[in-house]
Amino acid sequence: MNGTTRGTWHAPGRVNLIGEHTDYNEGLVLPFALAQGITVEGERRDDGLLELHSGGQREAVELEGLAPGKVKGWAAYPAGVAGALAEAGYLVGGATLRFASDLPSGAGLSSSAALECATALALTDLYEVKADRRDLVRVAQRAENAYAGVPSGILDQSASLLCEADHALLLDCRSGMSSRVPLNLGDHRVLVIDTGVRHSLDDGRYAERRAECEEAARLLGVPALRDVKDLAGSLSLLVDPVLRRRVQHVVTENHRVEATVGLLRAGAVPEMGAMLTASHLSLRDLYQVSWPQADVAVEAAVKGGARGGRMIGGGFGGSVIVLAHRERLPAVRQAVDAAYAARSWRPPAYLEAVPSPGASRLS
Ligand code: ADP
Ligand code: MG
Repeated sequence: MNGTTRGTWHAPGRVNLIGEHTDYNEGLVLPFALAQGITVEGERRDDGLLELHSGGQREAVELEGLAPGKVKGWAAYPAGVAGALAEAGYLVGGATLRFASDLPSGAGLSSSAALECATALALTDLYEVKADRRDLVRVAQRAENAYAGVPSGILDQSASLLCEADHALLLDCRSGMSSRVPLNLGDHRVLVIDTGVRHSLDDGRYAERRAECEEAARLLGVPALRDVKDLAGSLSLLVDPVLRRRVQHVVTENHRVEATVGLLRAGAVPEMGAMLTASHLSLRDLYQVSWPQADVAVEAAVKGGARGGRMIGGGFGGSVIVLAHRERLPAVRQAVDAAYAARSWRPPAYLEAVPSPGASRLS
């Protein structure tokens, strides 16, 4: 078998430990990769077609004339990667790509980035194109922004491509610089609770938050909210209470990322729980993007013995993470299940988040 005409690649999903809605404010985020992700079996083909298979669906995309807006639905993500690679000057051709996933889709665990990053590795390897992973982050982000039409930052793709086992990735969303931070959980575990509520970034509320932040930065005369140094002074300059709340969240959330990194470097994992809960309360009360199922899950988990927890992702649906001692996990789950049952909500789904390696070639 020629090693470059076919192969198998895997790209993980991610959770963002802390740093929510800081990315487009040019601030800090701290994701880590999951064990779960998307695997792709790829084979080169010479007819200029991208044949895409996933979960019984098949799509065929002509590479010639590929441009943003041409491909709809899930195929826009992998096709977008092919398009963005070409735009960036990477010469790749056709392929048959078969995707398999053990990552829930739309749960805020970044299945879209896993799909893009698996595709990017497959196509560049199949065509023996040497590309720096940081360039592939930009390519995958371009696929998501321009081809799939989702205005996201570099968080998801960076996590999928740059993470290492037992580490989180501290990412500066202004410079694009990242560094790995040891994430040795010891006897603690990070549990993902999929609240079952599906989010949609395109329902306007995400764009509204971004616009509010831009407006606040403009009024404060800073390039981005990342640059607010004197929080109290800045808040006193803003008349609109909504904008004040947004700024307060973004600025304190950046500080919480830095504080969490400090705790991790000191090996103080359990103490991180308080940071998670503080982040959740800020997202709930100041940024106003949480949803009832997330609030109930965090509150019940903490009552059940978790060290802390918070909603993750853009908001209005998706997942929650909680930090708990491994021996407390059954009690935590029981508490959350009971709180959901008391409200006649369907029980949530659980998944353990193990800090895992980034994307790689499997064979
Ligand atoms: P998240 O990235 O949090 O999972 P998104 O809404 O960003 O949520 O991405 C979900 C979309 O990604 C799906 O609607 C689908 O288009 C695509 N997707 C995810 N996983 C797969 C898969 N295994 N096969 C095909 N498309 C997928
Ligand atoms: Mg996504």
